[in-house]
Amino acid sequence: MNLSSIREDFPILQRTIYKKYPLVYLDNGATTQKPRQVVEAMSEEYYNVNANVHRGVHFLSQQATEMHEQSRETVRRFINARSTNEIIFTRGTTESINLVASCFGDAMMQEGDEVIVSEMEHHSNIVSWQLVAARKGIRLRVIPITDDGRLCMDAYEQLFTEHTKLVSVAHVSNVLGTINPVGDIIRIAHDHGVPVLIDGAQSTPHMAIDVQQLDCDFFAFSGHKIYGPTGIGVLYGKEEWLDRLPPYMGGGEMIQSVSFEHTTYNELPFKFEAGTPDYVATTGLARALDYVSAIGMDRIEAHERDLTRYAMERMMEIEGMHIFGPMDDHDAVISFQVGNIHHLDLGTLLDRLGIAIRTGHHCAEPLMHRLGIQGTARASFALYNTREEIDALVSAIERVRRMF
Ligand code: PMP
Repeated sequence: MNLSSIREDFPILQRTIYKKYPLVYLDNGATTQKPRQVVEAMSEEYYNVNANVHRGVHFLSQQATEMHEQSRETVRRFINARSTNEIIFTRGTTESINLVASCFGDAMMQEGDEVIVSEMEHHSNIVSWQLVAARKGIRLRVIPITDDGRLCMDAYEQLFTEHTKLVSVAHVSNVLGTINPVGDIIRIAHDHGVPVLIDGAQSTPHMAIDVQQLDCDFFAFSGHKIYGPTGIGVLYGKEEWLDRLPPYMGGGEMIQSVSFEHTTYNELPFKFEAGTPDYVATTGLARALDYVSAIGMDRIEAHERDLTRYAMERMMEIEGMHIFGPMDDHDAVISFQVGNIHHLDLGTLLDRLGIAIRTGHHCAEPLMHRLGIQGTARASFALYNTREEIDALVSAIERVRRMF
């Protein structure tokens, strides 16, 4: 991978912050930076193509529609879905999970039914289900984690009852960096006749995803975490499931015919896409997926794994360093604490040294409770990060540690 030419595609990486040059951006788990290819494709569409999709007979509308539907095909290919009918554009992982929770909850669940989630879930994969739970009287069952941050698979198997209707778990934890054994999780659930939703927000940017090979029933991810624009994301669903679910929102685009007496719904995927979609963001997302595909997801994964291993080794040299999550097979996110330095102080001081990391509970408060902490500092890596940036992080943490 030619890192210096890749870095040139991301102008923001050349910014000077607090007179520190160049910025070391290690908050990629929250959102990644955008390459020129994405931003320019979106400006180009606004300047030269813009028109509402699916509705117009005129040239621009047809061109915009073609681009939008081509983007859907790009997403389909990227995650190897069987059909574009299985690709629903949403605003992101959060909306994708809410869509499934709401529609699946309404159509498939009754009082007393259960959803299995895990102790390491992001709030979006907890609260979405709690909303349904409150409405429908269903229950959340929680897969516990081990002390080194892995799912207890024995306990998982024990959670299934005749009331289990769905399993919804993260592919990769945004806090612990754990790569969950989703193949086993899905197989076990299917053995019980239960479908599975995978939250791929933190896996999609870092490894090749093949939804057919995974055999998951639903898969959610966000564009902005994989070098694409904000406000666009994807819900993959097997056609057989999407066909059985009711629409999520009502409005234009999702209908076939409307009367006050009887309304019929559009076919997939439009049934789930009420209103004008963000057709410029779908172009941006497609260009982002083209961008990572041209480099190769396998090469990105190898580069980031190497960086993560290097970062963990170097960070463990720091006195008082505690890294959360498994020490091997760790994805590109490292949550840590140093001695009793408060994570907010650590993050603020690192920022002043030109290093952007994240601090806090990372939208995973139940996991924080399990770990008995209030929050962590978190460094997360992307394809453009370098070993030199890890060195800068380590020496900055060292400097902060000496200050305390
Ligand atoms: N799940 C996980 C594991 C995440 O890391 C995030 C984002 N931090 C989300 C869901 C929610 O993603 P978004 O805010 O893009 O909807």
